[in-house]
Amino acid sequence: MTTATDTPITVVTLDREHDPHDLSAPLACRDCGIRVDGPHDRANVEVLQSSGFRMETILGSVERERPSPIVHTAVTRCESCAERVSLANELLDQFPKVRLRIGSRSIADARVLNALIALDALGVRLPKIDSDRELVLLLNHMTRTGSAVRFDARLTGPTRPGAAPGCEFSAAPWTHVPADIRGKLRGATAAYLKARVDTPRPIAPPDGHPRGCLLCGVSTQLATAATASTVWARLSISPDRVGGERGAKRVNGVVCRICDRAIDKAGSVGPSAMEESLAAHLEIREWAYLDRPELHGVQSWAATGRTKPNDIPWSHLGDLKHVASLMRSPA
Ligand SMILES: [Zn+2]
Ligand SMILES: [Zn+2]
Repeated sequence: MTTATDTPITVVTLDREHDPHDLSAPLACRDCGIRVDGPHDRANVEVLQSSGFRMETILGSVERERPSPIVHTAVTRCESCAERVSLANELLDQFPKVRLRIGSRSIADARVLNALIALDALGVRLPKIDSDRELVLLLNHMTRTGSAVRFDARLTGPTRPGAAPGCEFSAAPWTHVPADIRGKLRGATAAYLKARVDTPRPIAPPDGHPRGCLLCGVSTQLATAATASTVWARLSISPDRVGGERGAKRVNGVVCRICDRAIDKAGSVGPSAMEESLAAHLEIREWAYLDRPELHGVQSWAATGRTKPNDIPWSHLGDLKHVASLMRSPA
């Protein structure tokens, strides 16, 4: 029986010289690898360059780099791969927060494209992406494998011994993908599809602890079944370090992910950690650190002595819009 695992790599090589400037010759699709006949529009052609080294085996086992001529290879995209590029763009336009988190538009474009490529190479239909989370899941699971699947991964870096870059094409889309990469693709896809159905739900602090985050007081955090046990971090605090009365009894409890990170960033539990947490929860990127007397009196939820947790982090402080404006205003 033939399984996908032993599908041989099938690449065809044309018996001709490759001229990267000849727009009438057939070119490989840089993603799926199939032959795209000319003439080509110059705007759709990119010339890739190999590094001019190739690995050589000496004494039967030791590999070393050996200089070889730099190879220029022109590539293009077939119609369906060009459509995928547009789809990647549309997805990022639809979920701009994901793009902002990645930073650079071109890096974001490449990550989404590689993830879509990974699914297509296995013949898996792209599931519906209708939230930031769905897109982030896709990227987290599929991007890395997708970059190894692209045909142009063969054309950059050291040239392979015996390769005829520019004259090679996949016999059919993705037939250049070797078995080990296909195996990784299947693993990544299975993990991705599993993570999609593991929908996040609100997780309260573990039994036996105060019912809110000791700093911000939030009552629940969204987490999947796989991560539910790790969303609350245990902590023991002296209330007088976080706005409570001097000499008040230590409180054992838990903190949310954001407050946990804030404590890490501040280096200790205290006013700076509370400010870091407020800035993170209120999505303030830059704030004035010094001379804000109004903020000096900030109390953590634990220091208030309340037992009812907050639906919204820090809502025990009252008007959070006012707090945000104090933090944003220069001292
Ligand atoms: Zn293609
Ligand atoms: Zn918190």
